[in-house]
Amino acid sequence: MTRLKIRQVLCHEDNYAVLLHDEKSGETLIVDTPEAGPIMEVLETEGWRLTHILNTHHHHDHVEGNLALKEKYGARIHGPALNREQIPGLDVALKDGDRIALGEYRIDTIAVPGHTLGSVAFYVCDERILFAGDTLFSLGCGRMFEGDAETMWHSLDLLRHLPDETRLYCGHEYTLANGEFALTVEPGNAALAERMEQVRKLAAEGKPTLPSTIAQEKATNPFLRPESMEIRKTLGMKAVENWRVFGELRQRKDQF
Ligand SMILES: [Zn+2]
Repeated sequence: MTRLKIRQVLCHEDNYAVLLHDEKSGETLIVDTPEAGPIMEVLETEGWRLTHILNTHHHHDHVEGNLALKEKYGARIHGPALNREQIPGLDVALKDGDRIALGEYRIDTIAVPGHTLGSVAFYVCDERILFAGDTLFSLGCGRMFEGDAETMWHSLDLLRHLPDETRLYCGHEYTLANGEFALTVEPGNAALAERMEQVRKLAAEGKPTLPSTIAQEKATNPFLRPESMEIRKTLGMKAVENWRVFGELRQRKDQF
C-alpha cells in the first residue's frame, strides 16, 4: 500500500501544480508553482507542511508562487541548474540523474531539453509517477521554445521508454485541444478515438483528464508515434528518421 497522497491543483486557467505527500515522513512536495493561493488552500485543508518545491522549467507560469510558498513554509526550491538565474529562490540546482528524497521515496531528475533547454522531468521510481512539466502533455507535447526537433524528440523518446503503467502528470490541461489535432493526423487510430470520447466527456463535466499513463500516450499521442504508418502517410514522409516526423508534426500543430 502506498503512503503517498497526490493532489492536482488547478491554477490560473489551465495550469496544474501537483502536491505529493508522504504520510510516513510527513514531508510534502509540489511540482511547479503557477500560483501560490490555490496551492496554499489545499495545503491548509489537508494540514500538510510544504517541504520541497520542484520546478520543471523557468517559465513564469511554473515558478510564480516560489517565493510566497518558500516564505510561508520554508520549503527548499529545486530546479534546473541551467536556469539558476531565472528560478526565484533556487536552493538546489539539479542536473540529469540527480536524486531528491521525499521521506524514503527516491525521485530522479531526467533532463528533457526542447521546450526549454533546461527543462527537467521528475520520476518517482518506486511508485512510477512522472511529472513531465511542459515537455509531454496528454495527446500532445510542449512547443519548442529553445530546443530543436532532434533534441526534443530525444527527450520524448526517453519518457516513452518509462514503464507502461507510469502515471503521467503534466503542466497544463490541454488534452482536448491536443486531441483535436491528433485526430487530423491519425484519424484511423481506434485507441485515440476512444480516448477522445472519454476526454470530451470529462471536459464537459469540468473534470481533469490527467493523470494519463505512458501506455495510453504511446497508443494515442501522435508525438510519441512517429513510427505510425498512418501518420507518416498523412505527412507524406515515408523513409525518414523519427525526429523528422516529430518535427513536422510539431510545426503543423503550431499552425493548427
Ligand atoms: Zn513552459
